[in-house]
Amino acid sequence: MAKPLPAKVSVECPHCGFKQMDYAAAKSTMCRQCGRYFSPSAPKPGLKLRVKEEPATAAAPEPRGFPKLGAIWSKPRTRVVACFECKRKHEVSDASMSTNCPGCSAHIDLRDYKITTSFSRSIRTRGELHLTAKGDLSSTSVVCRSALVEGKLRGNLECEESATIDFVGKIPGRLIARYVSVERKADVQCFRRVRVANIDIKGRMAAEIIATGAVNIHKTGVLEGNVTAKSITIDKGGVFSGQLVIGQADLTQAELLPQEKLATAPVRESNLPAAAVQALPAT
Ligand SMILES: [Zn+2]
Ligand SMILES: [Zn+2]
Repeated sequence: MAKPLPAKVSVECPHCGFKQMDYAAAKSTMCRQCGRYFSPSAPKPGLKLRVKEEPATAAAPEPRGFPKLGAIWSKPRTRVVACFECKRKHEVSDASMSTNCPGCSAHIDLRDYKITTSFSRSIRTRGELHLTAKGDLSSTSVVCRSALVEGKLRGNLECEESATIDFVGKIPGRLIARYVSVERKADVQCFRRVRVANIDIKGRMAAEIIATGAVNIHKTGVLEGNVTAKSITIDKGGVFSGQLVIGQADLTQAELLPQEKLATAPVRESNLPAAAVQALPAT
């Protein structure tokens, strides 16, 4: 039954609803919107998945969200983690506190961290981080799967998946995440470049952003700072002031030639307040 080419199908992320193309046979894939893992393959081998854009004619209408996959989640909860050292991925139970990489046997921390006071040891986990409003995280390096930042973050933060910023104040360290959400009540000033695939800005943010995907400024969002991204959308009411570079925001490339590809952005024109985009001199 081997096919010459692996079939790609349109799959929908059960976490955020994002649709993307993936190999039908893949056991696990990472959502390019929110960074979470899910299984694009059908529950039963041999069951045909619809090909992209093809309307489901004969079959009964399929509800959104792939409930069959949902059933898989509720069984023994497992997830796929990547080794920090060799990047090899393997499946672990959600209940595990740690694991060892089957490839290089490196230890992988899977614990969740909740920071409620000052904390300065470095963190490297495939678990989650919750920095509460009273927390003060001064570790130079924090690496986690996803983070909720409500308190002081002094060092660098790298999230494999998402970072939710719900904080008012300065973020002096590096912020790297697949997906960042700046919440409505947030008001942050990032001193270092923020590197993301996609970012949703619903609050206020002053930052230089390098995005391999989309920068979305919501109606309540205010972004001050230069943006290099594949695309940008600014909702009516949203404000952007800064320079905009639209193109392949390949990270290294963007770093090397930030000024080269000045272009008009595919902004949704009708929603764009005339004064919203203004090039500010970098002072
Ligand atoms: Zn998703
Ligand atoms: Zn390894």
